[in-house]
Amino acid sequence: MAIWNLGSINIDHVYRLDHLPRPGETLAAASYVQGLGGKGANQSVASACAGADTHHLGAMGPADDWVIDRLSRRGVVSTDILRLRDQATGHAIILLDGQAENAIVIHPGANRAMTPDMLAGPLSEIRPGDTLLIQNETSCQVEAARTAREAGARVIYSAAPFDIEAVRAILPHVTILAVNAGEAEALFAAMPGDLPVEGLLITRGAEGAEYRDLTTGTIHRQAAFKVHPVDTTGAGDTFAGYFAASLDRGDPVPEALRLASGAAALKVTRPGAGEAIPTLPEVLDFLA
Ligand code: ATP
Repeated sequence: MAIWNLGSINIDHVYRLDHLPRPGETLAAASYVQGLGGKGANQSVASACAGADTHHLGAMGPADDWVIDRLSRRGVVSTDILRLRDQATGHAIILLDGQAENAIVIHPGANRAMTPDMLAGPLSEIRPGDTLLIQNETSCQVEAARTAREAGARVIYSAAPFDIEAVRAILPHVTILAVNAGEAEALFAAMPGDLPVEGLLITRGAEGAEYRDLTTGTIHRQAAFKVHPVDTTGAGDTFAGYFAASLDRGDPVPEALRLASGAAALKVTRPGAGEAIPTLPEVLDFLA
């Protein structure tokens, strides 16, 4: 089966500085690095690395072809990515000082400029048994989820960045809701009682993850693997992409949790986001 991911594509511009600029101040950066990020792109890379036939649905501006090259090189089918002539590719300006302080500006750009019309073609290719991944960084979330469910696909929604109104709107069309510990707390506070989904995936950083099968009441728990964390950026996306790919190929939930935990643990031992997501052979080696 195929995995479709309606997800953000963000270019991260990371500047290291002596200190964060004050209003009116102009500063020269000590260094500059450009990277590929966005929860969507990261989850597509993770899902493709895990071996799933992964199609990214998203949008970029007219430039930045290297992004497509990079996604393709990691195995993501990128032919459905829209190029919007009047939009910038989504990007983040990340300022880091020497003391682990940061300041970040995000411009969603093309990620939030997609309209349902633009996505109608690729969404019509979704087949029964396929999976649609969605996170809260693009437009058209509800329309895409509804279309996929009507087509008989599984819809996995990562409620990040967390916005309870976005969750309420999409929930009737979601099969599995994925949240981290903080998001779970906000979710339970805002929506006490039963959630209208089949499954709830909660990741808890170094404390592991759990999957609640809400149709049977079964809870599957998976401890995190003990590693020396270097950079946890993208751990949640690595987990989500691997978990989805594992379910897609028919693995039972405990196996999907174990594979995803292994992949995410390996990710946190490496600096970077998308480029640090491990391949399946690396994960299997780690778990052996
Ligand atoms: P991020 O926003 O940093 O991508 P998140 O908040 O979405 O992360 P977390 O719950 O922090 O997601 O982490 C996802 C999974 O990654 C965890 O369930 C766990 O399997 C793995 N993980 C995260 N941190 C660690 C760690 N320090 N050691 C081992 N595994 C970890």
